[in-house]
Formats: sequence, C-alpha cells, structure tokens
Amino acid sequence: MKRTLYWVNKDLRINDNAALNLASKSDHLLCVYVVDKQSFAANKFQSKPLGATRWRFLQDCLDDFNQSLSTLGQELYIVYGDTLSTLTRLCENYQITDVITTKLPSTYENRLMTQLSEQLPELIINQVDQFTLFTKDSLPFELEQLPVSYSKFRKKMAEVTIAEPVPTVQSLPSMFDTLPAPTRFKPEWLPTASATKTEQGFEFEGGEQQGLKHLRQYFSSNSPAEYKQVRNNLDGWKNSSKLSPWLNSGCISVRQVIRFLTDFEQQRGKNDSTECLYLELLWREYYQWVHCKVGAKTYQFKGLAKSPPLTTFYPERFNKWCLGNTPYPLVNAFMHELRQTGYLSNRGRQIVASCLVNELSVDWRYGAAWFEEQLIDYDAAVNWGNWQYIAGVGVDPRGGRHFNIEKQTTLYDPKGDYQAKWIDQSQQSAQANQALDSVDASDWPVRQ
Ligand SMILES: Cc1cc2nc3c(=O)[nH]c(=O)nc-3n(C[C@H](O)[C@H](O)[C@H](O)COP(=O)(O)OP(=O)(O)OC[C@H]3O[C@@H](n4cnc5c(N)ncnc54)[C@H](O)[C@@H]3O)c2cc1C
Repeated sequence: MKRTLYWVNKDLRINDNAALNLASKSDHLLCVYVVDKQSFAANKFQSKPLGATRWRFLQDCLDDFNQSLSTLGQELYIVYGDTLSTLTRLCENYQITDVITTKLPSTYENRLMTQLSEQLPELIINQVDQFTLFTKDSLPFELEQLPVSYSKFRKKMAEVTIAEPVPTVQSLPSMFDTLPAPTRFKPEWLPTASATKTEQGFEFEGGEQQGLKHLRQYFSSNSPAEYKQVRNNLDGWKNSSKLSPWLNSGCISVRQVIRFLTDFEQQRGKNDSTECLYLELLWREYYQWVHCKVGAKTYQFKGLAKSPPLTTFYPERFNKWCLGNTPYPLVNAFMHELRQTGYLSNRGRQIVASCLVNELSVDWRYGAAWFEEQLIDYDAAVNWGNWQYIAGVGVDPRGGRHFNIEKQTTLYDPKGDYQAKWIDQSQQSAQANQALDSVDASDWPVRQ
C-alpha cells in the first residue's frame, strides 16, 4: 500500500507536473503546502524573506491550486509552522511510505529532504527534477564541469533536446479519512497589513489559471517578435514577457513556455527577438545549475570570487535605498515601483543594484535580501546570481557592472515620465539635494 505525501512547493500547477503525475499512482495521497514561520521573520540582512506583496501573490497561487486539486478529488492541506517538523509529524501520524516533491536547486530544500530521511530512514523520498528546462541527467557534462561562463554553457546546451511537457493528470487518489480539517486559523506572524494593489502597477494575479491565460495572451500577440527592441524599456506591460512571477511559483513550467515559444516561431517565423527571449530563459537555467553546483557560496559575501568586494554595511544608506530616498531620482522611482508592486523591469533591477554597490558602497547581500522580500518573482538562484554578477563576485569573468545613472536616465527616461509616475515632483527635488549621509566624517567627536 503506497501512502504518499506530496510536498508541494514551487510546483503549484496541475499541468506539466511530473511530481503530481507520480503522486497519482499512489493508493492514498496527501498534498501538503507548509507556510513556514521562518519566512516571515527578519533575517541577518534586516529583511524578511517573504514580504506582504509576495505573500498576497502566493495566496492567490495556493487558492488556485487548491481549486484545481478539488476538480481531481483532492485538496491542498495548508499547514502554518515549521516545515521539517510538520513533514515529520505528518509522515509519522499517517504512516506515509513515500514523499514526493519537486527537486529545487536551493540548498535549503535539499537539506530539508536529507534531514527528513535521517529522521525517518524507511521513507522513500522522490525528488522530481522538473523546475528547470533540462534535468541533471540530460546535462552534457558532470555538474562539477559546469562551464564557468554563460556563453560556454549556451554553446553546450545547443545540442540538448528539450523535453516536452508531460500529460495532465486526470484523477488523483483519495486523501486519508482520518485527517483533521485544515485549520482556518491564520497565525499572528503572517503579514497583517494586506498589500494593496496600486493602480499604477501591473496586474499580476497569482495562480495557474492566470499564468496560463497570460502565457496564451503573450504568445498570441506579436510581442515575442519585438522583444529585443523593447526589453530594456523601463515601463510597459508588453516590453517583456512578464512571465517570471508565475514561472518561479511553479504556476507554469519553463517547458510550457518553451513549447509556446517554439509554436510561435513555427507559425510566425524565428527572428532575433524570439532567439533573445530563449537566451534569457537560458540565463535562468544557467543560474539554477550554478546554484546547484556552488551551493552556499551563492549567499556568501565573496561569492565565487577569490576576495570579497570593497563594500560594507551603511545602515542609513541602505535604509534610504530601500525607501527610495537616495540622491538619485531614477533609482528612487524604481525603488517605489518595487515596494508598491513587487515587480521591476530588468533594467531597473540592474540600475538599483549597481547603485547600491557602486554609489552607496553597501554590501550587495543586503540588496539581494531586500529583493527577496519584495519580488513576487523571487527566485533564489536567479536573484542572488544576478546580484553577484553586478557586485563582481559571480559568474561573470569580466567582473562587476557599474551603470552610469545619468546616462541611463538620458537613454531610458529622457522626459522623466517614468520618474513622474512613481514619485511626485516636490519629493524629487528635495531628495536630489539631500546629502547621502546625515553624519559627515568631520562631525565625529574628536578626543582632545
Ligand atoms: C539584481 C537582479 C535581481 C533579479 N532577481 C530576479 C528574481 O529573483 N527572479 C527572476 O525571475 N528574475 C530576476 N532577475 C532577472 C530579470 O530581471 C527578471 O527575470 C525579469 O525582469 C522578469 O521579467 P520578465 O518575465 O518580463 O522577463 P523577460 O525579459 O520576458 O525574460 C523572460 C524570462 O527569462 C528569464 N530572465 C530574464 N532576464 C534574466 C536574467 N537577467 N537572469 C536570469 N533569468 C532571466 C526570466 O525567467 C524571465 O521571466 C533579476 C535581475 C537582476 C539584475
């Protein structure tokens, strides 16, 4: 008798979900999502891993997945607490024989699975490789031999065939009869201030249905054929695919995206833009495998470099950056958009990251952790990997990126429209004249 616990994580979908397909072969099934208390507590970088806007998006995803499961005779059992002890307790209480989950590159999930198997050695744990475009087995090299640059990786991957999405499961085994009803009680450590949607921001609604709807809309328009020309623009729903929030919550899979892209190319022709979109998705892929290979180095100050960067932590500067209160109006506008919506264009992310590291000389990890709290498309490998890249401690052999804010403003916001959208004029001039630090070195008391 196979009694399975499916630990749902970043795979909140019923389509192209090989883990759910495997779970459907059990005799009894429990689909569990743990909302971990730790995600809402401040970390050593003064941010909370899961901020209010991210939480709102995630709740949409959970509701939607629960609805889809109910059409297959199942339910999503949401538990609030500590992930390891919750999974251990459920496995013990319900004599679970098998645990199924999607394999993620992040060290945290893999450590958790190791700990669970140490506590319950009889348990069969199946981590399904489906978060990435390629599986570990299909890589044309050992993980240890992962190319040190993206361009080499790209060349090697050109020969590998991309797997098709798997069929959608049609029915699921029943739950355990003895299971108590999921608690409706929401613990006090969840964000209380509900993140309100701003009218200026984009309409991102979580869940597989919304993700698929957006995927279809994007690829039925001509936008993919124009992507390369507009992808660096600061604003605009159609300037980029906007798929990342659904992709990283697992509401849609990267294989589904590639399927749509390939169909688009077959029907309307391949061009520089469709190729460019593919190459961005391949960046996502590269960062996943880098994270898989380097593990905890992803979060270390010196990253993959031999020595750490020449930056440190300035609380006041960091705080001003988070709040969009720096002497740089364009940066302020970006930080307002990020905080109010949980999304920011790629160019916006690059400029604010460069500003924190180069203009404000702040330790890059504080910025990465702030992004983690804010971004509805947060992904550990991609976020920390991109931050390392800008800080010059990542995979980029050229070492660091310094964006000239004035030049970027002239190029991408010459009339100030974007800045005017996110900050009002009086605020802008007051901030521009402000000193970066309120305490100057010459103000420090000197011993007589
Ligand atoms: C400092 C910094 C932090 C970032 N943090 C994240 C993050 O947490 N999660 C995240 O998904 N992206 C992150 N990015 C990458 C990029 O900004 C977003 O993927 C992109 O803006 C999402 O919008 P989109 O889906 O419209 O992207 P599109 O331009 O339409 O690209 C299509 C897809 O390609 C991938 N992609 C695009 N750009 C990159 C990139 N630079 N690196 C890796 N993959 C990419 C994404 O999956 C994206 O959805 C970060 C970039 C920077 C500079």
